[in-house]
Amino acid sequence: MSVVEKTKANLIACKCLVCPSYEFTCKVQSMPSNVLLLIGDMDNRIHAEKLFCAYEKSSCIEQKKGCICPECEVQKKYDLKKVYYCLEDGGK
Ligand code: SF4
Ligand code: SF4
Repeated sequence: MSVVEKTKANLIACKCLVCPSYEFTCKVQSMPSNVLLLIGDMDNRIHAEKLFCAYEKSSCIEQKKGCICPECEVQKKYDLKKVYYCLEDGGK
């Protein structure tokens, strides 16, 4: 598997926030840290509540309700083969 770079371009392209598995309560909880991620140094962060294919799994999302990673430009760019990166490190 390619290593997905923790870049602003990848963060912006990530579709997780419009995914059915990303529940509303998780979006509200994660909003401050996701905004900080956009303006901060992304490389030094070990956890994010977005771009799960580059970081680790989510600490909020718990249920499979569909994954739209296959529609994401990051998936295509790095030739990723898995889905549900939010539920398992490295995807399922
Ligand atoms: S492949 Fe999935 S986890 Fe990775 S950036 Fe795209 S939507 Fe987000
Ligand atoms: S990794 Fe897949 S299932 Fe999880 S939030 Fe992102 S698009 Fe949705």
